[in-house]
Amino acid sequence: MTTPACIVYKNPDGSLKFVHQQNITYPPPNLSQIISQPPAGDTVYTPDNSPQIGTFRFLHKTITYSLFIKQGQVINDIPHQHNIAIAVHAALTCWKLYSTLEFVQIPYTSADDADLTICFSDSDPVFIQDPNAMAYTYYPNTKPQGAFTSVYNTKYLWSEDGKFNFTNNLNQTLRHELGHGIGMVHTTNPKDIMYPFYHNDIIPTAMDIYQVQFNYGASNYPKWMIDAFFKLDSKLEEFKVQPSA
Ligand SMILES: [Zn+2]
Repeated sequence: MTTPACIVYKNPDGSLKFVHQQNITYPPPNLSQIISQPPAGDTVYTPDNSPQIGTFRFLHKTITYSLFIKQGQVINDIPHQHNIAIAVHAALTCWKLYSTLEFVQIPYTSADDADLTICFSDSDPVFIQDPNAMAYTYYPNTKPQGAFTSVYNTKYLWSEDGKFNFTNNLNQTLRHELGHGIGMVHTTNPKDIMYPFYHNDIIPTAMDIYQVQFNYGASNYPKWMIDAFFKLDSKLEEFKVQPSA
């Protein structure tokens, strides 16, 4: 019998509790399923000592995540916290569509409650020490206990597409950072989401797809479904929550 990757329990107060089966051994990636190969010339970015592809990965397929935004925390140019949740979900969907990963959001209780704990903060110790840090993320199973996996500095101006007022593209940054969160490393093509310098491209390249499939195997989603996601995704306006009148 196969043990499920994640079990949901109901607490006496009616709330749900997700418990991971951390000792599950994830099957090795089926390399024959990888639909994309690394394009010629696109490789691991080495000047920052990025590890090799496949160095870090989760050993289970169902990845839980939680989102913590301090009450009253202002995120410039993104007035509705619901939009942050949608951007996080869209970023994870980018990686899910090409791999066997599934992502399940669970309620935030602590920085250690989920596989990926995501925080928006203006007072994170890393940002206090280095005010230029815009965001940071730990690779799977490398974060210290009590620390968040992926943190975004709200002292910066963020927007959903990076197009107004010299804001930073939150969708792009989330895709890049949460890519690290599932084990992806920096690569050399300036179009790659995992390219180490900020840019505005938010659609995975052949190299990005190769990386996630190397770690987790390829998805069975039909091409039309993937295309449909990115077609809608590019119309970010449609994702916005309109303020109630
Ligand atoms: Zn990076």
